[in-house]
Amino acid sequence: MGPKKRRVQKESDSRGNRKYIGAHVGIQGGIWKAVESCTQMGGSSFGLFLGSQRSWKRPPLDPTAADRFRELCTLQGFHPHHILPHGSYLMNCGSPKEDVFEKSQALLVDELNRCSLLGLSLFNFHPGSSLGTITTEQCVEKIAGAINHAHRQTPQVVTVLENMSGQGSTVGGKFSELKGIIDRVRDQSRVGVCLDICHAFAAGHDLAAEGGVKAMLDLFDQEVGLGYLKAMHLNDSKGKLGCNLDRHEDIGKGEIGIAAFRDIMNEPRLDNIPLILETPGRPKFEYAEQIKLLQSLVIENK
Ligand SMILES: [Zn+2]
Ligand SMILES: [Zn+2]
Repeated sequence: MGPKKRRVQKESDSRGNRKYIGAHVGIQGGIWKAVESCTQMGGSSFGLFLGSQRSWKRPPLDPTAADRFRELCTLQGFHPHHILPHGSYLMNCGSPKEDVFEKSQALLVDELNRCSLLGLSLFNFHPGSSLGTITTEQCVEKIAGAINHAHRQTPQVVTVLENMSGQGSTVGGKFSELKGIIDRVRDQSRVGVCLDICHAFAAGHDLAAEGGVKAMLDLFDQEVGLGYLKAMHLNDSKGKLGCNLDRHEDIGKGEIGIAAFRDIMNEPRLDNIPLILETPGRPKFEYAEQIKLLQSLVIENK
């Protein structure tokens, strides 16, 4: 037997504040590399893709690589609830085109199976787009149908819908649309929401205003229910309030500004969920520095 490996505890990151900050990391060279990258940048949660973004048919996950991923997560103290895989951008579970819908539904099943193999409990994806040829209602119906189908085919993984910026004919820019999908999902213990801060701002939530974060969470609680909030994507926005553009910016360098992120870091309703950066990064202000900045915003002894 080799030396006993010490498990790292990430319980009290951010100086006792229960905020789990991380970033979307790459899987080049092996899926376990994501765990290594996140550890190196000082994160306590992370996002990742579970395969190529370019093809509908992907080679199956290598079981040895999956084992290594699970072992590393345990070793580094990453809890499955703090890891949020992101779905393939090819997927459109609301597509009016029958072939695309079928392929998307199959890909969703494949993604959830990958999560199970990796010991993960959450899976995040963009709900879908009507392409302007069906109504939002019909699109919502299709998305819920795909989720129900995937739930029947796979064991316990929670499907997490991401709020959108409201660009084009995408569904999920309004909380009511996310609620519409959730209402149609049979097993509501297996559906949740990931709030992307940049998307929310672009969709019209004024997070730059004083009390903006609180107001958005109050509204989310009213329209959807805070129990469904499983994660957040922390991104500033290049685009202005209500612009409907999906343009991520580094923390504090965009139209949202640093005050909103201070409110997020001190908001108890956002404890114990993954808070994941998907920012472009710039020299001397990459993920590691942005994680440090966010941690420094925690006000002690509130
Ligand atoms: Zn996304
Ligand atoms: Zn985005």
